[in-house]
Parts: sequence; C-alpha cells; structure tokens
Amino acid sequence: MTSNAYIGRFAPSPTGPLHAGSLVAAFGSWLDARAHAGQWLIRIEDVDAPRCPPGADHFMLGQLARCGLLPDATPLWQSQRSDLYADALADLQRTGWAFGCGCSRKEVAALSKGLVYPGTCRNGLHGRPLRAWRLRSDGPRVDWHDRRLGPQSQQLDTAVGDFVLQRADGLWAYQLAVVVDDAAQRVTDIVRGADLADNTPRQIRLQQLLGLPLPRYLHLPLVLASDGEKLSKQNGAQAVDLSDPTNALREAGRALGLCLQAATLADLQAEAISAWRALYGPPELV
Ligand SMILES: [Zn+2]
Repeated sequence: MTSNAYIGRFAPSPTGPLHAGSLVAAFGSWLDARAHAGQWLIRIEDVDAPRCPPGADHFMLGQLARCGLLPDATPLWQSQRSDLYADALADLQRTGWAFGCGCSRKEVAALSKGLVYPGTCRNGLHGRPLRAWRLRSDGPRVDWHDRRLGPQSQQLDTAVGDFVLQRADGLWAYQLAVVVDDAAQRVTDIVRGADLADNTPRQIRLQQLLGLPLPRYLHLPLVLASDGEKLSKQNGAQAVDLSDPTNALREAGRALGLCLQAATLADLQAEAISAWRALYGPPELV
C-alpha cells in the first residue's frame, strides 16, 4: 500500500557519476521512503550547468536503476524550471527580503574576510550596477529538529549572512531552487548527507518567507575517504563499483549502520527496509 502522506526524494547534482557517498545518500532516502510506505522521487540538480558534464545525469540514473533504486515518478531537471525560481525571487523582492547586490566577488571576500556578507547593499546599490540578488539574513534564530542529530539552531545573520539567491552570471542558487522544488514536488521528508545539514536553516528561512510547508529532515552519516575528507568529485572520489550491485548496496547499508546479509538484490532491499524501520521508525510500521 502506498501512502500519500510521505514523499521523499534523492536530489543529486550530476557533476559526475555516483560515488560511494552519493549511493549512500540515495539508498538512505529510498529506504526511508519505502519504510514509510511512501513515494520516492529523483530530482536532477543541474542549476550549475557549467559544472555538469553532458550525459552525467543519465549515467547516474542508470547507476541507480542497476541498484534497483527506481523513482515513483519521472525525474525533474532543475535546468528546466527557471520560471518557478524567478517567481519565487519576485515574491521575495515584493516583500522586501531580497535585495540587489552590486559587490564584486573580490569586494565581498575583502569585506567579509570570506565568511559573512556584511549587508553592504541592503540599503541600495548607490549607483553601482546590479550583480546578484541576496536574501536579508536578519530575523529570528532558526530552530529545527533533525531526526538523527536532534535539536539544531542557527542565527543566520552571524553564521552565514545575506546569502545569494541568483548569482551575477544569472544562475540560480542551490538554496532557492531546492526550496521551490521540494514544495512543488510536495516533499514531506528530506533525507540527505550530513554535509548539507548546514544549509537547512537557510532553506527553512526561505520556506517561511515564501509561505511553503516545512518538511522533516534526516541528515545521514557521511562516508569519508581514508584521509578523513568528504568523498566528492573535487577530491577525486571514484565512481562507485557496480559490478555487483547487491554488494554495493550492502556496503552502502554498512555506512548507514545496517548489517545486511541477503544474497540477492531483492532480498537485500527487503532486509534493509526492515532494518531501517528498526533504526528510524516509524514505530507504527515496525
Ligand atoms: Zn553587495
């Protein structure tokens, strides 16, 4: 039985093939959706087009299919959804939360020492050309609950400052696109790597300002390379070895704290779903 109550998603940036870490995030979000008898969606986060080599998206979808991780609806591509992001930006401009910024990258780096944008252009561009759109970060502290990490909070203006919504090159910022699409896809549960936990307060602030529903969050443990660094294409993470997909999922399960023994892909998935329920609920389905 499929419940309409739960909608989850895996939202990779197709900057290269899935590596061991991204397979863990995919498997975790899939397991949580299946454990809740919910739907699982895939969204291709290709807003930063220059960083996405042609074909990497379909390669990644093929890798997921080999592991039996199949979405319940046709995937979405963010590069086709600019109109929705423009509407959201217009909304934030109308309410006065978004402001035009004329600072160059160099100026921002010098002013903020690379940390927090100090709000230079909040009160106007003073004759400088418009470069980017930013969101005012003043406002109440953002408090939220993570299903694994527990209570979290962040004061946006001191921790991250006024953040970018649309870049000087016209590309949409990750924060805005994610929030708009999670709401459009009616996502109730966000399950992703702990490296993104830091972004959550910015996304919650945007959800609040745009009047969107607030999803639940679960940030998964990260798979680290042997040198303790996060696995990513930038630091040379290899495509995950899918010569034996069952074994690849067994390894991904291990990173999620699941000890899986089954020998076939279907049996391993079933075993993983009940192990996941024991770890993360929901209790009524255990
Ligand atoms: Zn500025």
